[in-house]
Amino acid sequence: MTDCLFCRIVRREIPATVVDEDAQCLAFRDIAPQAPVHILVIPKAHTASLDAVEDPAGVVGAMARMAQRVARAEGIAGTGYRTVINTGADGGQTVGHLHLHLLGGRDLAWPPG
Ligand code: AMP
Repeated sequence: MTDCLFCRIVRREIPATVVDEDAQCLAFRDIAPQAPVHILVIPKAHTASLDAVEDPAGVVGAMARMAQRVARAEGIAGTGYRTVINTGADGGQTVGHLHLHLLGGRDLAWPPG
């Protein structure tokens, strides 16, 4: 989608600190990190949200594979981490392009807000 923020990051029209990339997904550091490690994993193809995705197993599987790899590369796999997909207004989604938050590097409280 032309004016989507994360599509523009995929096209390198907006700067981001990219930490991993493959044919399907891109991972980059969140601009407002909520933990020492806070990375967003997105599908390169525009999809508005988890609710809108046509092939959830395929797309979320590819995102989970990248999240696992990035967590290991960031050194947080041993201590643990959290993966979150916010969906829609009540879910706290503010950017309309499906993304998975990978958070780690501190003890994360539960339940979330
Ligand atoms: P959500 O609230 O689940 O939609 O999460 C959107 C996330 O995108 C937030 O954590 C923002 O800090 C992050 N974000 C917004 N703009 C950028 C950007 N230009 N680069 C990296 N992360 C961003």
